[in-house]
Amino acid sequence: MHEEDKQKTAIITPFGLFQFNFMTFGLRNATQTTQRLMDNALQGLDFCFVYIDDILIASSSLEEHLDHLKQVFDRLRKFDLVLNRDKCVFAVENLSFLGHKIDKYGITPLPKKVEAISNFPRPKTVQDLRRFLGMLNFFPRFLPQVSQKQLPLQKMLGKCKKRDKTPLNWTDQSGQAFQDCINDLKEATRLAHPNSNAAIILTTDASDRAFGDCIQQREGDSWKPLEGTKFTILTDHKPITYAFSQKIQKLSPRQINHLNFIAQFTVDIKHISGKENVVADALSRIESISTYLLAYEDIARSQQDDEELDLLIKQSTSLTLQKLQVPNTDVMLYCDISTQVIRPYIPKTHRYQVFRNLHYLAHPGVRATVRLICSRFVWPKMEQDIFNFTRSCISCQKSKIFRHVHSPLAEFKVPNQRFVHINIDLIGPLALSQGLSRSSRDENM
Ligand SMILES: [Zn+2]
Repeated sequence: MHEEDKQKTAIITPFGLFQFNFMTFGLRNATQTTQRLMDNALQGLDFCFVYIDDILIASSSLEEHLDHLKQVFDRLRKFDLVLNRDKCVFAVENLSFLGHKIDKYGITPLPKKVEAISNFPRPKTVQDLRRFLGMLNFFPRFLPQVSQKQLPLQKMLGKCKKRDKTPLNWTDQSGQAFQDCINDLKEATRLAHPNSNAAIILTTDASDRAFGDCIQQREGDSWKPLEGTKFTILTDHKPITYAFSQKIQKLSPRQINHLNFIAQFTVDIKHISGKENVVADALSRIESISTYLLAYEDIARSQQDDEELDLLIKQSTSLTLQKLQVPNTDVMLYCDISTQVIRPYIPKTHRYQVFRNLHYLAHPGVRATVRLICSRFVWPKMEQDIFNFTRSCISCQKSKIFRHVHSPLAEFKVPNQRFVHINIDLIGPLALSQGLSRSSRDENM
């Protein structure tokens, strides 16, 4: 301990005041300080993994292992760190580390722990269930579709309350989910060590309740789930590529949290332009979403009763309206074909829905919303409508800051004589009063 910090560790006992000379257990930042010290000491040794005071050394042969050990011992000596020989295990083919069994094939949960969890009696209270899920979720990486399978159990937890003794109502579904979770853990998938020569795939899937992903590598004829490996993220979101190189003081706590989360996986983020990122982009294209939500049958039906459309067809306008068939359906829709893009005509009844579909994706401002909708659909005076819709969007009003330019109030100089200055404030136009409109005048003299 630094001399000036020793007093901070003082404790009162019946025999007087005592201070620690060395860092002890339970100090607020002891864990972090230890991890930092260990990281410093063993920096650059890529065959060893440090978790607080545990050091894991992975070597591919005995000779290499001896060499690795020597390097580690040299470093520890340099940093005045001492090992407890009874707690050390050298030159073994498999060992348990942080609740996991590690060998040359990969990593699995410790059989002892798996057995303890699989013998867990079916929980009777919310508190018990929470304890069970807590134990189970020490191993989420080994369990396929973990959130989806636990959903019936999570639903039973109800509101967050400490020591909740509420008895549980087990149904067939939740009972099955409980059993499934245990079975999955028993058959826990072994995670393979990364092999730099093997092909790697990342599979992702999302529904409205859960999302999942799995990174696998090819070994022989089969794909094996993979334990962490370094990889590069390609994204069309340019700002985030600079995120890890900026000064941390500039970031908000929320941004730091997000970056911290991303950094667990990789800090290697490269930019790829939207055009090149065809695969991911196809999934996020707005058109696919909007056509999905709009029922073209309904629009076709409303088009028949739309008076505005009748007028437009009879009169000559800048629009070229033509009845066209919607692809893959037998619906016929009036569309404008005067521009390069064919734009369906939207009858009055569906205009707000169209606006909602597109505007609610990201709540852009008036101009961007107009551009977004005008490039896909058409109706008379649409810009005015979209302007009004956007301005009256409650979410936008709640969360956006509209900047107004306010000029500071001017001061009148006090005149030294009557009628030197005459100031007039005009208000208006005002509502009609007895058939007359007039501006009110307020005169200061
Ligand atoms: Zn909005």
